Amino acid sequence: MTNLAPTPLSDRLRSLVDTVQHNERTLRRFQNVELRLIGAQDFASFLDTLFNVLPQEFALTGVTLWLDERAPMLLELLEPAALRSLDQPPGLKTSREAGAAASRLCDDGLPWLGRPRDWEENARHSFFGDVELPASAILLPLVAGNLSSGYLCLGSDDATRFVPGMATDILERFASIVAASLDNVAHRERLRQLGMTDSLTGLANRRYFDERLREECMRAVRYAAPVACLFIDIDSFKRINDTYGHQTGDRALAAVAACVRKQVRLGDTVARYGGEEFTALLQGDRGDALTVAERVRRAVEKLQLLDDRGERIVLTVSIGVAARTVAVPPAEALAFGRTMMEEADRAMYRAKHNGRNRIEALAPA
Ligand code: GH3
Ligand code: MG
Ligand code: MG
Repeated sequence: MTNLAPTPLSDRLRSLVDTVQHNERTLRRFQNVELRLIGAQDFASFLDTLFNVLPQEFALTGVTLWLDERAPMLLELLEPAALRSLDQPPGLKTSREAGAAASRLCDDGLPWLGRPRDWEENARHSFFGDVELPASAILLPLVAGNLSSGYLCLGSDDATRFVPGMATDILERFASIVAASLDNVAHRERLRQLGMTDSLTGLANRRYFDERLREECMRAVRYAAPVACLFIDIDSFKRINDTYGHQTGDRALAAVAACVRKQVRLGDTVARYGGEEFTALLQGDRGDALTVAERVRRAVEKLQLLDDRGERIVLTVSIGVAARTVAVPPAEALAFGRTMMEEADRAMYRAKHNGRNRIEALAPA
């Protein structure tokens, strides 16, 4: 008997499996970076992920981000005062020349790949400054919706890493997440600058919520779309403070806030409405709102919050739900939103009265 020599087919299979496994590992590492970008609470940590975590994870020699100062959503981020407070990292560029060079290279909004050494001197300098040029690079347009916000350039010291013609779908997907996260972080920074966030929980505050309520109700009225709200109150929270101290109470508040935020959609608004009270504004009907409320109730009940001695603190919430599908004149939209909130508040009190850790909705009027 002779040993079977590996056939070309098995070689090909093995190589296919290797490729698949390699792609899977790459995707997982991308996901890790993407989650950090999506969750970035401020511009500084967003940039830290791009300039420090990303190059480490993917063995890149450098990352350059060019942001368009003319993009409306970036106005506040790129204000000179805001940038000074941030110690502008060398990889962050805003000059007109760098943008013009990038848009020439990325014809038709497609990524450019190759050797930056082939760029004209001006473009090279505006993009890389005095640092050593990468041997190869990819330049990716950043577009969210149909608004362009800039370009992301990833450089490698391997001349064969980024070459024209190679598949770029994973990197293009990554660029779209960078663009969306940038939008998100700009929005957060704007709210902070306007004094519309609560510093303990990072949620929107009541002032912002009331503004969103007006906007959402106008929208609901205009398009006859359903809108709903939740009024969420932590049960017996005074006892948490009394038992574990105010500091642990604060920690509990932040944990419940994050937990509620996770249960709603990105476009929904969650606010810290008062001390241990939260509100959520949802695009959906009564049924949707009841489902979300139940998700919130359960998630809070399961929260793994520990006291200073490592013992679990049990927290629960009572939730009032109200929903509307509207047919009122636009002038009455705000009043209509307010009565919806009052109804949710009354429903929340009924939940307290009926034993807490539960959800109530009043019978529709
Ligand atoms: P109920 O189930 O009826 O809602 O009882 P409760 O104890 O939650 O309600 P109550 O309104 O009596 O107490 C709310 C407590 O929330 C009292 C207040 O000290 C506490 N609280 C409000 N804001 C904060 C805060 O920022 N940090 C901490 N640690 N506690 C807060
Ligand atoms: Mg309360
Ligand atoms: Mg309470």
